[in-house]
Amino acid sequence: MHELSIAISIVDTVIKQAEAASANHVSEVNLDIGLYSGIEFQSLEFSLGVAAKDTILEKTAFRINRVEPVAECPSCHHLYTPDRVFSHCPECNKPGIRLIRGTELQIKSLLVEQNE
Ligand SMILES: [Zn+2]
Repeated sequence: MHELSIAISIVDTVIKQAEAASANHVSEVNLDIGLYSGIEFQSLEFSLGVAAKDTILEKTAFRINRVEPVAECPSCHHLYTPDRVFSHCPECNKPGIRLIRGTELQIKSLLVEQNE
């Protein structure tokens, strides 16, 4: 399952960052996930729970921020919200699209409690 391997890599990354910060507890993880990232949100939420089990992230709250897509027209540089991945520019009507937001998958922030 695609989402499970993503969840495992998120959990691994967060654990490494928490260890680097000498944190023994992570209370919250904020994720930015684009609506055009191809990720099934419900499946990812479920997978994060599975991946975090028996780790220091078992009680961590994973908050998923859904990022709306923003496209830039490669011809006239008009910025717009595309209604699908392949569309025409609403300004100059040329085909072609460059997504500048909406495909991200990143860990935005962690809330950790540090060891004494
Ligand atoms: Zn255009």
